[in-house]
Formats: sequence, structure tokens, C-alpha cells
Amino acid sequence: MKKNNRSKKDSKGLTPIATTKEWKLLYFQHGRAGLEESSHPTGLCRHCELRDICDLPKRRSGVWHCAFYKASTRKKTNLYESVINQLEKAEDIVHFDRDICKILAETTNELIVHFPVKMDGGTVTMLTGYRVQHNNALGPFKGGLRFHPLVDIDEIRALSTLMTWKTAITNIPFGGAKGGLQIDPADYSIEELEKITRRFTFALGNNIGPEYDIPAPDVNTNPQIMAWILDTYMSTVTPNERNRCLHVVTGKPIEAGGSQGRYKATGQGIVFLIEKWAKDHAFNLKSATFTVQGFGNVGSWAARLMKKHGSKLIAVEDITGVILNKEGIDPDDLADYVEEHGGVLDYPKAKPIDHETFFKTKADIFIPAALENQITAETAEILNVKLVAEGANGPTDPEGDKVLQRKKIDVIPDILCNSGGVIVSYFEWLQNKRSEFWDLDEVDYKLHKMIVDAYERVRDTAEKFKVDWRTAAHIVAISRLELVYKERGIFP
Ligand code: NAD
Repeated sequence: MKKNNRSKKDSKGLTPIATTKEWKLLYFQHGRAGLEESSHPTGLCRHCELRDICDLPKRRSGVWHCAFYKASTRKKTNLYESVINQLEKAEDIVHFDRDICKILAETTNELIVHFPVKMDGGTVTMLTGYRVQHNNALGPFKGGLRFHPLVDIDEIRALSTLMTWKTAITNIPFGGAKGGLQIDPADYSIEELEKITRRFTFALGNNIGPEYDIPAPDVNTNPQIMAWILDTYMSTVTPNERNRCLHVVTGKPIEAGGSQGRYKATGQGIVFLIEKWAKDHAFNLKSATFTVQGFGNVGSWAARLMKKHGSKLIAVEDITGVILNKEGIDPDDLADYVEEHGGVLDYPKAKPIDHETFFKTKADIFIPAALENQITAETAEILNVKLVAEGANGPTDPEGDKVLQRKKIDVIPDILCNSGGVIVSYFEWLQNKRSEFWDLDEVDYKLHKMIVDAYERVRDTAEKFKVDWRTAAHIVAISRLELVYKERGIFP
């Protein structure tokens, strides 16, 4: 687990400079690294549009402003709208049953919980959490839990819908769900984070369950958080049932019932698909260069596994900063640095660059592995790569997608590309149900088979309908769901 190396109380005597969520985010980003203003390496942020409305740039500069800028002033595309537009695009091509599309365009259940948590100082804070269950026609609802200050119901709706498509494409017996808690975990001590997680789990109550809705890690959540969820859930059932609910959550630490290979699974899946793409295009990964946005679970594992092919990581962006080294950045060394310092900022073996230069950097492959709507018309226009392998969910907005298509940049779309996580979650769920324990070779072998099969289904569908891969992936997913609805009918 990442160290929570930011104290809630400001040791430098700084007082929070704003009250809105975004200002708070900015303030705490500054607090996290504990930088002195004068020691900031990047100087004033060239992108910042806030100079005229606040005096902050004069006092604190560079990346902290970028963080605020990204979080709040970039044009926000509604991810849920994009998700539904994509469904309609696939529907127009294949003429799916309209009634079934009506069902798929809606979520099944949406839960918003507000709950109190007692903080270290004794005060009580009210928090807001979400769980949206999109569809369970193929099996129990399944999807990650995200802790992020800007999480909202629309985002969770969209992400739960993407989970339904993802499980359908990969042929696993799960539906789609997603959850979120509107916090920045770095604002809290470890003890507070544990209390928050447990209280959120308690608030979700029987809306999650091993055969009903199974959460997993996502942005800012990790195996430790999954272990707390498991323990809290187990404590609320009768002693007889306790050991039958190990599979209420996946992505657990191995000792708590997790699977070998789950932690790296999403990155591993991305790299299996990049390998397959390279083989199909007679492209040599050994001399390839790549860039990564987001160096958390997904981005760092994808980078480390690409290194095994001899590919060279040359630029990385995360919430703390952006770095470049055309000679190559060692992903293992960078991962150790990020573990210790909380982000890529000030990494000594690369130079700081800005957001625009990051997108302009010429490379063979770009792996977005941060948040949604990062590849916009603007950034897609300057992107100089052959392949975008979407590790994040929804990283490309519809306008960005059009530009990628016009520029003939290949895209392995999110619902296929990052499905390694849910595939190995399925393996973990199965192992828990059967009291089995598979070794890493078995997990990797099965993951490789399932994800490459899904890739081939999407590739063949793209060729058959002469459509882009994102549309093809949706056609594969919706076709499977349509078939199930037609066979089972609509109750009553
Ligand atoms: P994480 O919390 O481990 O890492 C997120 C990374 O993104 C961090 O490096 C953070 O600094 C960076 N980031 C956040 N905001 C940013 C911004 N505005 N600009 C640049 N970088 C920013 O999360 P993760 O689990 O690696 O998830 C990353 C993405 O992958 C998310 O879209 C998530 O939904 C998706 N995903 C995760 C999994 C999984 O198994 N964890 C599975 C499928 C998809």
C-alpha cells in the first residue's frame, strides 16, 4: 500500500486557500509533496488559465496549478453521454433489438449513501458514496470501487455500463457495476481510511454480496482496502456463513484470499494485447518506445511488463508531474521512486516537461492509464504514436476518437484493453468459491487465452462490419447480451 505521507494538519503552517473541492485538491497536492515554493522545479505553469482570478500562481507554481487546471477547468465531457452514444453507434450498424437496447441504456440500481465517520481528532465528517449496478443478465454485478474527490453519480453510471460491456466481451459470467467514494484518500490518516472504508461497506450492506455484487480495486483503492471490505462484510454475517463469503470482493491480498497475478492483471492484460497487436502488424516490440499517463497500478505494471519485451519507456505523466527521458526511463526504478515519493515529480533520472509536450512526444505506443477524457480533439491532434492501448476507462472522448480515426492511429479500446483486471478477478472469485489456489503460471496462461480470444472476436468483428475497434468491441458485447435476453425473455 502506498504510504499516506501527508499529514492532515499542515506542518508548514499553511492554511487552506479555498473551500471548494477543486481548491482543496490543489491545496492538498501542494501539501502532499511538502515542497517549498522556491524549490519547485518547473516554474510557472504555461497552461494555467487562473492567473487572472487568483494570486496563487505568484506564490505557488507549476504542476500544482496543472493539477487544479486538469481537475476543474478542462472542458468536461459527460462520460455517461459518450457511453450511450457509443451504444447507439453500434445499434445503428447491427440493428440490435430496440427493446433490448432500451434496457441496456439504463442502469438497474443506483445507490447513494451518506454516512458519518469519526475522524482522528474526534470530529464527525459526513461522506458520500455511490454504487451503481448497471446490468446482471450475464451474472452477478461486478466492478471496481474508486476513491476520488471528483467522483459523481454520472461518472459511476458510465463506468458501471463499461463494466457490463467488458464482462460481455471477455465471456465471463458477470454483469457490470461500479462504486465510488467522494474523497481524496491522501487527506486521511491510515486509521481514518480504514474507518471510512469499513463504514462505507456497512452503508452498502446487502447491496453487495459474493453472489450478487462484487467490488474490486480501482483508482486510489488497493488490496488493503479490499481486505477491510471483506473483513467488515464477514463481520456482518452469521458465523456459519463467514467463510462462504470470501468472494464478496476481489483484488484482495494473497493472504486474505486473493489470487496470484491479480495485482498486475490489468497491466498484464494490456501487454498481452500489445504483443498480439505487434504480432498482427509484424511490429518489433524490442525497439519500440512508449509513453504512459498515470503511474499507479495499471500504468506502472504495464510499463514494467513492456520492459521485459525490451520496449523503452520515454515519458510519464501523473497527477504530480510530467517527465521525459528519450534515453529511457527504467519502470522498476520509477515505481520504487513513486512508492516512496507519491508521484513522478522530481524523479532525478528524467527532466520535467509540460502536459502538451508529453502528448507531442513521438513514440510508438501510448498507454493512457489515469482518468477519463484525457484524449480530446486537442490532445489527439498532437499525439504522435502508432497505437493507443487504453488502460484507463474512458480515456478518449468522442471528439478525440474521431481525430484518432482520421489520423489512422490504432486503438485497443478500454473495454477490451483493460479487461485483464476483471478476468483475473473472475479467477479469484472462482478460486474462493472452490477453495482452490492457482499458481501464477496457471493464472497468466488462462488470462492470456481469455484476453487474446476477446481480441480476436473484436478484430474479426471490426473486419466484418468495416468499423473501428471501439465500435466492434461494443458490437461483440451487445450481441452477447442481446442473445441472452432473447433466450431468457423479459420477466414476467
Ligand atoms: P491508481 O490510483 O493506482 O493510479 C492512478 C494514476 O493516475 C496515478 O498515477 C495518478 O497520479 C494518475 N492520475 C490521476 N489523475 C491524473 C491526471 N489528471 N493526470 C495525469 N495523471 C493522473 O489507479 P489504477 O487502478 O491504476 O487505475 C487507472 C485507470 O485504470 C482508471 O481509469 C481505472 O478505472 C482503470 N482500470 C483499473 C483497473 C485495476 O485493476 N486497477 C482495471 C481496469 C481499469
